[in-house]
Amino acid sequence: SIPLGFFGGIGAASKTGILIKGSNYLEALNDVKYVVFDKTGTLTKGAFKVTSINPAAEYSEDELLEYAAFAELHSTHPIAESIRVAYGKEISEDQLEGYNEISGHGIEVKVQGKEVLAGNVKLMNKYEISFETPNEAGTVIHVAIEKKYAGYIVISDEIKDDSAKAVRSLKELGIKKIVMLTGDAKVVGDSVGKQLGIDEVYAELLPQHKVEEIEKLMQSKSAKEKIIFVGDGINDTPVLARADVGIAMGGLGSDAAIEAADIVIMTDEPSKISSAIRIAKRTRRIVW
Ligand code: ADP
Ligand code: MG
Repeated sequence: SIPLGFFGGIGAASKTGILIKGSNYLEALNDVKYVVFDKTGTLTKGAFKVTSINPAAEYSEDELLEYAAFAELHSTHPIAESIRVAYGKEISEDQLEGYNEISGHGIEVKVQGKEVLAGNVKLMNKYEISFETPNEAGTVIHVAIEKKYAGYIVISDEIKDDSAKAVRSLKELGIKKIVMLTGDAKVVGDSVGKQLGIDEVYAELLPQHKVEEIEKLMQSKSAKEKIIFVGDGINDTPVLARADVGIAMGGLGSDAAIEAADIVIMTDEPSKISSAIRIAKRTRRIVW
């Protein structure tokens, strides 16, 4: 039977916006030594803003933004939303054909009969589109039209106010290693990691690579040491399922992530993870 004290712990957690789906997860939090974060939407706001538009010679800024906005019409990715907001005009569905969103890459679609690609370096490489790598801080969305490079749009995200506290408080609790995994570019990942004092950053990862990183970490530690993974997106569900304790940011997180998680943080504050660990430690003292 489950000791009564666990209900107290789960109840106390729920009052502070932390939903724990079972006493075994509350218990596991006591032995957490590694915390692995997703970047976008977890440590950053996931609210991107377009900061520059850089068309190739054949296009104007307005044209480049228009192609990108059309390409991104159906995507629910925060990147897509920021491009549609910057465009600001209505986009009609009938101009699109053969829409295909490739996870961790971007979009391929026909816009007014022209083949448009909008995404990262991986997407451009897939189609052997050549271009010069821009030297800009921020997430870069490359655009190609009819297999020719058409320019890039830079967007940037902001670190959540609460994220520095989240990392600091975990270190105070004696967590051995704090890791960040991201599908975003290495420059962006490294910059966020450095600002927050994260121990290790792995960037340019596809969703399956995130699972592989968690598995490597699982194999390198002792059985008693537990790993938390914290994420928010649909992409994060396999990793949430694989970690000892999967935590979803429920504030703006996807339903799939909330469903797959063992613990749901109902606000957008990653520092609630250390609150949960503290509640677990208090509960263990009461129960045993
Ligand atoms: P994260 O791990 O930071 O949450 P994702 O795995 O969702 O990132 O995406 C990884 C990368 O794939 C993005 O940084 C972007 O370069 C590219 N990408 C994904 N979806 C889109 C999209 N709809 N439009 C353009 N690029 C995209
Ligand atoms: Mg994410």
